[in-house]
Formats: sequence, structure tokens, C-alpha cells
Amino acid sequence: MYDGYHFVIDSRKVTPGCVFVAIKGEKTDGHLYVNDALSKGAKYVVVEKDVQAPENCLIRVDSTVDFLINSAREKIQRYNPFVIGITGSNGKTTTKELLSYLIGRERSFSNPGNLNTEIGLPLSILNYYKGERYLVLEMAMNKFGDIAKLCQIARPDISVLLNVGTAHRGVAGSDQAILEGKLQIVQMMNPNGTAVVIKDERILQKLSLKSLVTFGYRQGDYQILDYFYDDLSTIATYKTRGEIVELHFKSPWNIGQLTNIGAVLAVLDLIKVGYDKSLLENFSPIQDRFKVSKHKDIIVINDCYNASLESFKVAVDALTKLGKRSFAVVGSIKEQGIYSTQTHRELGKILESVDGVIVYNLDHEIDSMVCSKEVLRTDDEKEIVSFLRRTLKPEDAVLFKASRAVQMERVLAKYLEGSE
Ligand code: ADP
Repeated sequence: MYDGYHFVIDSRKVTPGCVFVAIKGEKTDGHLYVNDALSKGAKYVVVEKDVQAPENCLIRVDSTVDFLINSAREKIQRYNPFVIGITGSNGKTTTKELLSYLIGRERSFSNPGNLNTEIGLPLSILNYYKGERYLVLEMAMNKFGDIAKLCQIARPDISVLLNVGTAHRGVAGSDQAILEGKLQIVQMMNPNGTAVVIKDERILQKLSLKSLVTFGYRQGDYQILDYFYDDLSTIATYKTRGEIVELHFKSPWNIGQLTNIGAVLAVLDLIKVGYDKSLLENFSPIQDRFKVSKHKDIIVINDCYNASLESFKVAVDALTKLGKRSFAVVGSIKEQGIYSTQTHRELGKILESVDGVIVYNLDHEIDSMVCSKEVLRTDDEKEIVSFLRRTLKPEDAVLFKASRAVQMERVLAKYLEGSE
């Protein structure tokens, strides 16, 4: 019904002829910007509250979020694509991008990483989906119920559950709520669908499914058996249902990411899409997500995009394997709520295996972290950079990692200035 229209929820992004959907958010209420949107040329404004505006431009609904959800669902039903839904605490974006890339961009549509919520997902479908055969969708969960809502927009034919960890545990409320919330991707899939699930007993004991494929590290139907790094490449051996495959990745992937690739191989087999081995081997990690490069013979790992205990664990494991000596510049893990102290204590234990820990304590959640390898603690980026310049030697490796809000990329950018 709304094909051809561009939908926006931010009046600053209104362009002539688009549809402005007024959404009440935590910080502001889109209904305050209805006239702004109209003055910029919005053709329609969708509202759930009374507003003063010309009747011929107004679309009144009970819930503007439901309007987006229903419109996106109707569009999907019209094209009837094969839906692959991906969730998990870590690795969604990279797994989705890799899968979509291997299926082929012309045959598949995937939602951009930040458009993975009950608002973002419908917007991406309404604005960018053009009827591609495969929908590869990243589904994010903050609280229990989010995944079920996303599955109502696009019911997965294959549901991929990558892992269940502790990310956003403060928002979800408890680790149990995270588990139950993520299981919805399997519970809500098409009854004839197949679930691709990490081989983790805590998860599997909750599922009774006819059609289940598992993956994991040295376990499951699709497993990574072994891996090692050769300079900045990764040589990994996988056992799939029918064969042993050796892959020579051109970048260093960590064991979490390598495990997720087992899920990618499983999905490709299920949909019977052959992949080009060299495309897979040459695919490189996405910006700021465990992206490794060399600067003046020092290995630099940019993992600034986000952080959780599990993603720290796999990053530190790779860090210690990649460098002669290993250093980590670390900041807080956010959205941990009442678990914050416990999380940062556990982080301290994970970091015991590196040679030097530099704590960037711009915010103070990381104050509860204790680690015997700590060599510097400061909120001054320059102090960190000058420490690293004095200390790092060729063949050392350094990891930059914290939750997004910490903006660790600023410290990294300062360090990289002049070190090309
Ligand atoms: P998401 O979209 O779920 O945040 P990304 O692909 O953006 O996932 O990756 C985020 C972080 O998760 C990266 O630091 C990456 O190294 C880490 N990661 C990926 N897969 C795993 C895994 N299976 N276990 C732990 N960490 C992982």
C-alpha cells in the first residue's frame, strides 16, 4: 500500500514526498515535530495523538509503532521471501553480513546493523527491501518479548540462535530473561522451519524440535575443529555434515566469530546455496568489530564497537595468540545494571592472561575491575597514547575494546595518528 514511499521517524531527515511517522521515544516525542515534517514536504504524517495538521495529510492510528510493524509485515507477505532470522548476544551483525554476502547481494536483503529493533527493522523493510528472494534479518533483543515482536514482522523459515550471553543483562533484568527472550526466535519460527542453534546444553534442553541443526566449537553438526593464526591470517578446519573443510581466512577471526561461521555453513546447506570458498576466505570483519591491522609492525585490534564478557573473552584469547606480547586498552561494559560490579570483576579475571592492561576510566563503571596486570588507569587519552608509544615494540599486539558509549575509537584514533 505504501510502496514507493520513504518512511522517516526523525523530522530532520524528512525529504519532500516522504511519510513521517511520529513515535514517542524516551527522550522526545515525534508528535512535537509533525508541523516541522510537513513544512519540509512530508506527504503524510502518521500519528497516534491529536495534532493540529491538515486532515488530508494525517493518518491516525492507535499505535504508530504497530503501524510500522504491520506495514512491513504486509509488504513481506506480498513478496513471500524465505526468511532467515538471526539472534544471539554476540556476532549477529557479522554473521548476517557474511551470510547475505555469500548468498549474493542480488538475491538477499539484510537489515543494516542498527536497524534491528521493532522500529528499525520495519523501517529497513519499508524503505529498502525490493523483493529479494532471501531475507537475512538480524533481530536484536533488549528485553523479553522483543524477538517475538520482530518475528511477527517476518516469521523465520530458518532461525539462527548464535549464543546466549550476558550482554545488556541490566536491561533484560536477568540472565534467565535473556535466555527465554532469545529462545523466542525458535518458538516463533514457521512450524515447518529449521532451527540452527549453538550446541549449548543450557539452550538445547529448553527446545524440543523436529528440525534442529547444531553448531559449535568441537561439537555439533557443524563444528570448528581447530584453528591457528599465520601472521594475520587464520587457518581453520571445519567438520560439516558431509565433509572436512579447511579455510584460509585472509584476516584473523576470533574463536567466537569462527564458531558463528559454522552456523553460516549450516544455513547455506539448508537452503542449498553453494558458496564461493574464496569469497568466504576473503571476507573481512566489519568496521570496529574485531578488525585487525598492522601499524609500524604492531598488531592493532579495533574492537571498539561494543563489549560484553563473552566478546572480551574471545578477543583476549586471540590477542594473546596474535602478539609476542599482548596489551589491552579497556573501558566499561555498559548496560549491566545491578550486575555491573560482578561483570567488571569477571572482566578483571579474563584480562589476567594479557601482559599489560590499560584502563580508560572516562566513566567509572570500570572502577570495580581488579586485575594484577593493570599498568595504567586514566581518563586522559593522551596519557594512554604516550604510554603505548613508549611501551609497544614490533610484533606486540594491542586490543582496544569497550562498550559503544565509552567511545574507545577516539583513543584508538589518537594512537593511530602518525603511526601509519
Ligand atoms: P552483534 O551485532 O551481535 O553486536 P557483531 O558482529 O557486531 O555482533 O560483533 C560484536 C562483537 O562480538 C565483536 O567483538 C565480536 O568479536 C564478538 N563475537 C562475535 N561472535 C562471538 C561469539 N560467538 N562469542 C563471543 N563473542 C563474539
